[in-house]
Amino acid sequence: MTEIPKSHPRYESLLMRERVIDGYKKGIVALAGLIAHGRGEAFDYIIGEKTRGFAMKAIKAGAAMMLLGRKAVVSVNGNTAVLVPDSLAEYSKLTGIPLEVNLFYRTREREEAIYTWLKSHGAPEVLGVYDETTILEGLESWRRVVSIKGIYSADVVLVPLEDGDRTEALKKTGKKVVTIDLNPFSRTSQYADITIVDNICRAFPLLVNYTRELMNKPRQYLEEIVNNYNNKETLSEAIAFIRDRLTVLSYPPGLQGQ
Ligand code: ATP
Ligand code: MG
Repeated sequence: MTEIPKSHPRYESLLMRERVIDGYKKGIVALAGLIAHGRGEAFDYIIGEKTRGFAMKAIKAGAAMMLLGRKAVVSVNGNTAVLVPDSLAEYSKLTGIPLEVNLFYRTREREEAIYTWLKSHGAPEVLGVYDETTILEGLESWRRVVSIKGIYSADVVLVPLEDGDRTEALKKTGKKVVTIDLNPFSRTSQYADITIVDNICRAFPLLVNYTRELMNKPRQYLEEIVNNYNNKETLSEAIAFIRDRLTVLSYPPGLQGQ
């Protein structure tokens, strides 16, 4: 990987970019994944590369919804796998919730590369590659091939960095969807039951922490969190935050009053 000086003002962001590029070279990330990452970066720049209040609320509700599921699963694509492999493995070990490789640009090589990558980071169960699969109706692309033990029979699915069509199809089959997506305007953000508008690199470790805390609480406590959560409100907050920040940014200190 290219050496990035720690003193660089956007060190974290450059590090993520390097991880995605490296993932592409390893055959884990699709070429289009580089573009998707760039789209995420633009939104992260605008929200100031920090986890905001609207994201914290959604992380907490998302953690609770996953724990309440009869059967939950985390759908993993190339970008997600290279950006947060340790957190994915930690989350799966902590909860017993499996990971499932599910790709838009599906090739056998990439599926196997992601499987091996996740396993080497300690993920206990990785579905969708070597186990039995079936077809999830309502989807054109290769992502309609899902694991019978995983997404197919799940009632709650965490689908980070996901395409809108897929999220809509999951919703149509009656599943609850939690997503992590920096773009509050994306179709995925709009369709999901819980949208975490934050960078996955910050959000996933926080999700693990919340999950650890919530695991010991009674079911009723988790149900209250989910029932009191309103995704439309959260998305509105995220969009209002972006609007206000753009207003501030359009009057840099040097220009104010001129
Ligand atoms: P949609 O299909 O939902 O309308 P889209 O076509 O704009 O969205 P996709 O490429 O299908 O985008 O999905 C990728 C999504 O993931 C984008 O909304 C992008 O902003 C988001 N994203 C990319 N990188 C990150 C990241 N590191 N953390 C969180 N979100 C990210
Ligand atoms: Mg899309």
